[in-house]
Amino acid sequence: MIAIGDELLSGYTLDTNSNWIAQRLRALGHQLKRVTQVRDREQEIVDQVRRDLGDPELSDVFCTGGLGPTPDDRTFAALGVALGRQLVIEKAVRERIERRLTRMVDAALVDSAELNEGHLRMARIPAGPLAVLRNRVGTAPGLVYEVEGTRLFVLPGVPAEMKAIFAEEIEPTYLAGGAAPAVQELRLRFAVEGRFYPVLKELEETHPDVAVGSYPNFDSKELVLRCSGSDPRRVEEAASVLRKFAESLGYSAVQP
Ligand code: ATP
Ligand code: MG
Repeated sequence: MIAIGDELLSGYTLDTNSNWIAQRLRALGHQLKRVTQVRDREQEIVDQVRRDLGDPELSDVFCTGGLGPTPDDRTFAALGVALGRQLVIEKAVRERIERRLTRMVDAALVDSAELNEGHLRMARIPAGPLAVLRNRVGTAPGLVYEVEGTRLFVLPGVPAEMKAIFAEEIEPTYLAGGAAPAVQELRLRFAVEGRFYPVLKELEETHPDVAVGSYPNFDSKELVLRCSGSDPRRVEEAASVLRKFAESLGYSAVQP
């Protein structure tokens, strides 16, 4: 996942798009390997897109941001370079924008259905997308490309638009069929994380198929021990080993 935007790197905007996509991918049974944030600089976007598309472990790359009508939005230009494709006015995108503008004229939100340079910028995309995705919420299109077997999903930065396209257009068509991992959490009040070292070490050996994470929360004074994996029975086993160990230390679990 690549979150694109100067405002993210200068600290004005928290990158909630990556967190949301990470949650959705987990629920759909896909693992997210890496999230990067890059500025609206053509070469920096090109470098990151090439790196991710060239990573043999990745089947899909998602990027958000920088599709807008203003000159500081450079994602399409950068993708053109990264994919080695010309920027062309894509008929399907242009027609989508025209239809949207017509509806906005009907609703008296804008005066003219004429496409301006900003609209044309949003329709000028790297040639040959696999699909143009419907954006019910805004003007910028969502796009999918396929590059040597890896899919590249291109989404607007506006969270509401990104979420709508992802949930309505991408999930059912491209990401269905997986199963979320089984998860068991143990929440312990005032527990000292370091004391769990021996049991965590033991579980690494006895349950390598279960990921066990230890997450102290300094506000709630809770230690969360989280087990996840594809086999619910194995996850339950690991959680039960942890529960017994915690009890042997005199800690009792908080009910979630
Ligand atoms: P549009 O064409 O719909 O404006 P865009 O792709 O041009 O979309 P940006 O201009 O990059 O989007 O950002 C639009 C808004 O979305 C800004 O307010 C920006 O701060 C916010 N935004 C962008 N990226 C993220 C992100 N990763 N997490 C949260 N908010 C974001
Ligand atoms: Mg931007």
